[in-house]
Amino acid sequence: MFSQLQSVATDPILGLMAEYKADPNPNKVDLGVGVYKDEQGHTAVLKCVKEAEALRLQQEDSKTYIGMAGDLNFNAHIEKLAFGPAHQVLLANRVTTAHTPGGTGALRVAAEFIKRANPNATIWVTTPTWANHISLFQAAGLKVREYAYYDYNTKGLQTEQMFADLNNIPAGDVVLVHACCHNPSGMDLNFEQWQRFTAIAKERGFTPLVDMAYQGFGTGLDEDAAGLRYLADNVPELLLCSSCSKNFGLYRERIGAVSIVATDSKVAEIARVNLLSVVRSIYSMPPAHGAIIVSHILDSNELTALWHQELAEMRNRINDYRQLIIDKLAAEGVTDDFSFITRQHGMFSFLGITKAQIDRLKAEFSIYMVGSSRVSIAGLNHSNIDYFARSVATVLKG
Ligand code: PMP
Repeated sequence: MFSQLQSVATDPILGLMAEYKADPNPNKVDLGVGVYKDEQGHTAVLKCVKEAEALRLQQEDSKTYIGMAGDLNFNAHIEKLAFGPAHQVLLANRVTTAHTPGGTGALRVAAEFIKRANPNATIWVTTPTWANHISLFQAAGLKVREYAYYDYNTKGLQTEQMFADLNNIPAGDVVLVHACCHNPSGMDLNFEQWQRFTAIAKERGFTPLVDMAYQGFGTGLDEDAAGLRYLADNVPELLLCSSCSKNFGLYRERIGAVSIVATDSKVAEIARVNLLSVVRSIYSMPPAHGAIIVSHILDSNELTALWHQELAEMRNRINDYRQLIIDKLAAEGVTDDFSFITRQHGMFSFLGITKAQIDRLKAEFSIYMVGSSRVSIAGLNHSNIDYFARSVATVLKG
């Protein structure tokens, strides 16, 4: 049976990582993978996480199952973090949450949940979007279609085309929207655009699915959730997929959450039992470690303050390097307009250079980025930014 299998293409980012690893050039720069790195190029464990883990080691007295919804204390924390502590959807018991193996697990559970609620639903994603969105929704049996989003010419949003596309989406379909730090473009909706998105969702009756994988990486924890909170204030129902991979640096612990906001508490209760039965049929119960670390941090004012500080350090470092890219390229004599980089947020931006220039950067300078020219800004640091700017300037000059 297995010999009948056809080979499948590997993820281009994983291929790029392997090439980077094998490259002997001591000046090599990895701008491919979407993982935060510090000034030393290291993805360190946050101090708040280390402290929470010490506490967990001391306090943990059982390894028994934690139930299909996972850690209820974590779920309550993540709801408050996302919606704000006194949001009307929380006060009205309209939200049900399950913690999941990462944001990816949240998205897959959400997809299976949608399939149950409406087997004919199409899910609409931004053009472009995180590549795994498409494969995981298709794997769950959902039809996937795209709506206009990023404009490669203006390096902004295709605003009017986007709203025109959204205006044609029927009730019963689901529209995925990135809460902040759009992957791969870094281009987010501003508040006015969230308001327009919300008005269309209400009028058309489609269900929004908000993917929030980078809360706190854009402008701030509350600022990055402002669109989601407004949406939740105004639409009858939505799905939210959160991830603690980036903002708590818990990548390999696989911790995220799926939340369903329903029209009222009765529907939320029915949604809850359906959500849990979806979970039961995929992985039964989530791993506990990441959720309990986050719970320990958010249970403690001291650890929460430390987390806020460490999160701000990561965010500020990325934002500083967004400005530095512009300054250093200008200093190298580049006259092309790169000002869009500071209008974008989070881990990524498209440099907007050609495939030939990307290939040259890799072949001649060992600078690795994905074929779309998406760069992971956190791969830059004081010891490679000048080399990066000089190399980009060289390939731009031809
Ligand atoms: N959504 C988006 C847009 C992402 O970029 C990512 C991570 N790359 C995820 C979801 C999932 O993150 P994880 O499963 O690592 O928590």
